[in-house]
Amino acid sequence: METIKPIRKKSLYSFTLSELRDYLAEKGFAKFAADQIYQWLYKNAEQNPELWTNVAKKIKDDFQSNLSIDLPTIIWNGLSTDGTRKFLVKMFDGQTVEAVAIPARDRLTLCLSSQVGCAIGCTFCHTGTMGLKRHLTADEIVGQFMAISYWLKANVSTEMKLTNIVYMGQGEPLHNYENVRVATIIFMEDKGLGLSQRKITLSTSGLVPQIEKMWDFPPVNIAISLHAAHNNIRTELMPINKAYDLERLFAAIKKVPLKAYRRITYEYILISDLNDRPEDIQGLIDLLDKDKSKINLIPYNDFPGSKFKRPSNSKVIWFQEELLKRGYVCTTRTTKGQDILAACGQLKSEYEKLNLWDHREKLTSRLESLS
Ligand code: SAH
Ligand code: SF4
Repeated sequence: METIKPIRKKSLYSFTLSELRDYLAEKGFAKFAADQIYQWLYKNAEQNPELWTNVAKKIKDDFQSNLSIDLPTIIWNGLSTDGTRKFLVKMFDGQTVEAVAIPARDRLTLCLSSQVGCAIGCTFCHTGTMGLKRHLTADEIVGQFMAISYWLKANVSTEMKLTNIVYMGQGEPLHNYENVRVATIIFMEDKGLGLSQRKITLSTSGLVPQIEKMWDFPPVNIAISLHAAHNNIRTELMPINKAYDLERLFAAIKKVPLKAYRRITYEYILISDLNDRPEDIQGLIDLLDKDKSKINLIPYNDFPGSKFKRPSNSKVIWFQEELLKRGYVCTTRTTKGQDILAACGQLKSEYEKLNLWDHREKLTSRLESLS
């Protein structure tokens, strides 16, 4: 894994509200200015400090000399026929990650990346084939959200507002625990974006030691990427199951304080002839408590060179109905944005194959030809 070189000033987007208050106090400025700055940055989404009318000039001067207010850059975006919009976001060292804005009736959810690549190496996942390049810093995670917010306001509608966050882009959020925790605190700050705990979902492949310490993580919704109810199949799909098998995973999940989370979501990618059989339904019934679980079925999304197949639609419906009949809350995730390679990691890797930093139009047409 590459280490992050200190090539830029500390970002203003890396501060929680209390850290910003401390920063100002240490410099001899009024602490309460932190609240006003948070309001400008996040509530008013005004990136230009010159327009922060109620913030003292000496504070702005200090920021100018010591902090950065720059955001990552959106270098490509693509709109799917279903309204999903995918973004390729370039960080300050040139690394890129994906984020996807997914509209639904009353919300606009942003699927965020937490790492460049991923170390977990799930065999069905395109990001898993890339390996881990590096963690994203807290301000790069917040920066994806802010850069896309600005982009949507400027290019689609000033009314456009991101309402929900899912950590389901590239990377394993619990592998980058501290930075994802800080970013989540920033997202939830009332004086800023004020996203409630119900509007944020963290998805994990099952890093048991980090699940066990989640008592110090803001109480957001938890999704577990289960994908199989039998250890041998789960190990084939997710090498992490060798270290933390289903028994260890469920022992850790039982310790997650459910008061705030109500139900845990279990993600289950349906793969033809592998985990879509009657014994897999029975395995799920044996594992999951129907009062505390929600099952989200995801028909497998093929990508060029992938070794698994998506089941037929009728198989997906059958699988869901069997679980519904037994009293489970069970939904099927319609695959969004297929025409723009919306599954995890696919766009970025197509982009890197082409290595066309300066030829975006060519990339766009190549991506279009793939749809
Ligand atoms: N690393 C975390 C969070 C992000 S993974 C985790 O694994 O939970 C991104 C999401 O995309 C997960 O829900 C994963 O199950 C899903 N995914 C990855 N590859 C996929 C594919 N080929 N088809 C369908 N879903 C896929
Ligand atoms: Fe990593 Fe999640 Fe992809 Fe597995 S599914 S390789 S944990 S991003």
